[in-house]
Amino acid sequence: MDFSLNEEQRSLQETVKKFAKNELTEIAKKVELEDKAVDKSVLKKFSDLGILGVNLPKKYGGGGMSHLEAVLVLEEVAKISIAIAFPIFESSFGPALAISNFASEELRNHVLPKICSGEIVVAVSMSEPQAGSALTDLTTNARIEKDHIVINGQKRWCSGAGHADGYVVYCRLSDEPGSKGIGAVYIEKETNGFTFGKREHHMGFRGVHSADMYFDNVRISKSNIIVPAGGFKKLMEAFDLERCGNSTMSLACAQSSYDYVLNYVQERKQFGKAIIDFQAVQLQLAEMKMKLDASRLLIYRAVVNADKSLPSIGESSIAKCFANEITREVTGKAMQLMGGYGYSKEFPIEQKMRDAWGWGIAGGSIDIQKTNIASSLIGRRFDQRK
Ligand SMILES: Cc1cc2nc3c(=O)[nH]c(=O)nc-3n(C[C@H](O)[C@H](O)[C@H](O)COP(=O)(O)OP(=O)(O)OC[C@H]3O[C@@H](n4cnc5c(N)ncnc54)[C@H](O)[C@@H]3O)c2cc1C
Repeated sequence: MDFSLNEEQRSLQETVKKFAKNELTEIAKKVELEDKAVDKSVLKKFSDLGILGVNLPKKYGGGGMSHLEAVLVLEEVAKISIAIAFPIFESSFGPALAISNFASEELRNHVLPKICSGEIVVAVSMSEPQAGSALTDLTTNARIEKDHIVINGQKRWCSGAGHADGYVVYCRLSDEPGSKGIGAVYIEKETNGFTFGKREHHMGFRGVHSADMYFDNVRISKSNIIVPAGGFKKLMEAFDLERCGNSTMSLACAQSSYDYVLNYVQERKQFGKAIIDFQAVQLQLAEMKMKLDASRLLIYRAVVNADKSLPSIGESSIAKCFANEITREVTGKAMQLMGGYGYSKEFPIEQKMRDAWGWGIAGGSIDIQKTNIASSLIGRRFDQRK
């Protein structure tokens, strides 16, 4: 077992790190201040560097690399800003992977090259007002009429809502109850009858748009079906990879807070010496470092074991759950170690802490991951309704 990255991977990591620091730092400040997603000029830079769809097949314009390389890229950009990293997350872990794995060749060719060139951003919409953790309670209905589908319903909390150009929407494609009737379709933003509610604002995630989405007799071609009714299990398998992207975003918040505070404690002096010379401060840093390393190894395990396929539910849920928990802890410790400066908006840590908190809700709550982990231990799902 080799725990080190190879030369190409280190070089990719270094290239993206330099690019993110030099080209994205100022943009990140603007995104946070204005709470607006990055425009297409940034996507063009990503595309030129080859960091959109890192792990998508080359024939669709992707990088043809492994999930591990996608993790390395995402972490470096997300350390600067999770909002700026969002299009990379969506193109290498989120909805693009569902399209790449399950959609027809026609739909893949229609959507994926545009994602990889930065022409469009695609978001995923699963949650509804009455269907969060209980996702299989979703009611958005997609009625098949000959060559078309007619969609009616309401969605909530979609990251990118109103800003993204295309949406992978989970909906009911048959009358079968529960998970059996669920599939997913691809809907373009400008489709008649598809509208957005007012912009929602989270505690963190500034620059990641969110709004309710309404479907009022939205008529699209049947060829936009990504997964037909009965394919919920497949969608959840693709979601196992999404969890690794979520874990990486969490890790990036934690790692960048730690990196910042490691310098800070060596510079900040109290009682006539740098605060790193107090043993209590040393212990905090050691605990932060142990958790960061463990989290990184869990993410690497999930994606490396998946190889070119999709990670297992057990390993991806462990990686997500751990990263979601430690990012809250590590960013919190970083804030505490900076005293009043940590709590001030003049310094980056308060933002890191706000951003960090959201990942343990997005993509399935921490406790739902623990239920997944227990299921994978004994090889059967627990029915939450009985
Ligand atoms: C920042 C952010 C981004 C998001 N982005 C997206 C997106 O892009 N697309 C999308 O579709 N959705 C998105 N979501 C929605 C997210 O997936 C849901 O918020 C999440 O699944 C939880 O659902 P809920 O909010 O309805 O909470 P609920 O399901 O009401 O859960 C509330 C609490 O009850 C607990 N709980 C519920 N059921 C159980 C159970 N059976 N066992 C134990 N505990 C339980 C949960 O753990 C949680 O702590 C996002 C959310 C956030 C905060």
